[in-house]
Amino acid sequence: MSQAPSLGEFDLIRRYFTRAAPARAGVVLGVGDDCALLAPGPGMQLAVSTDMLVEGRHFLSTVPPERLGHKALAVNLSDLAACGARPLAFTLALSLPRVDEPFLAALSAGLHALADEAGIALVGGDTTAGPLSLCITVIGEVPAGSALLRSGARPGDAIWVSGTLGDARLALEAFRGRVGLDGADFEQARLAMERPTARVALGQALRGVASSAIDLSDGLLGDLGHVLRASRVGGRVDASRLPRSTLLARQDPALRLQCLLAGGDDYELLFTAAPDAHEAVQAAARRGGVAVTEVGRIVAEPGLAVHDGTGAALRLDGLAGFDHFAA
Ligand code: ADP
Ligand code: MG
Repeated sequence: MSQAPSLGEFDLIRRYFTRAAPARAGVVLGVGDDCALLAPGPGMQLAVSTDMLVEGRHFLSTVPPERLGHKALAVNLSDLAACGARPLAFTLALSLPRVDEPFLAALSAGLHALADEAGIALVGGDTTAGPLSLCITVIGEVPAGSALLRSGARPGDAIWVSGTLGDARLALEAFRGRVGLDGADFEQARLAMERPTARVALGQALRGVASSAIDLSDGLLGDLGHVLRASRVGGRVDASRLPRSTLLARQDPALRLQCLLAGGDDYELLFTAAPDAHEAVQAAARRGGVAVTEVGRIVAEPGLAVHDGTGAALRLDGLAGFDHFAA
């Protein structure tokens, strides 16, 4: 219990969520007035995305608040990355059960550290009492007509993913007590879950190279399914090629497959590119600072088939993508 009277709403906003914005073309006015003012560059379109994190739904109460601040922004930056957009600014709608200053200090430190890394500013928001949740809206810009969409995959395109998949789901299984991980392994998996990296540079480097893109938030099967439906095509994935950490590679095969195909919370990019774009994709990956792996092909017939390294079809029952309202 704090002895000092609890901070009021406006002091709280001033202390934790108002900072001198980095000098940045595009942000004219930040926190403090009725609206923020943004000025996208000539010929640019604004890319806007919102993601909400609710305690017990999207994060566990055990998450260190610095990591929660990081993750709330990272998952939003991941959506901009998937569109190939350059981040400009973001807003934060925050619901808090009480004014807990150490919590707010750590949360805002995590948030602002990632904002600084991404070169963007918090330009507004809303603050209310209520169950703990964070809702961020991120605004980016992309040259008109060049955003990466889910609908551009064509038969014959290669399917690629960035980074490695499945560690975040492995952490969730460890928190649920369904798998035992020792100290260093648990911390590695937990970092993947609590402190994801948005592939912002890769997304921008893939403009003009990828034919479609999506970020992996709900598991590869579900998210690739969104691309296939939006593009009216089908896909074939070789599960043995799905990139994994050495930690995940050491796990039980059934658990490993579940983490790779239906993991969720990966925040890697899944994208497609014409078969002759192999070199251009690798060049984009170098500019994006992350490895990319070719994992399958787009085909004309609708549907998604996953096979193992020998070409044998894998059964996918029970491995659907995450759906908050599914029974
Ligand atoms: P209004 O009454 O117009 O909704 P508020 O009193 O809610 O404005 O907020 C005052 C200012 O503080 C506004 O500029 C708003 O964008 C900003 N703000 C409120 N909450 C936050 C927050 N959590 N993070 C950043 N800015 C915030
Ligand atoms: Mg308000």
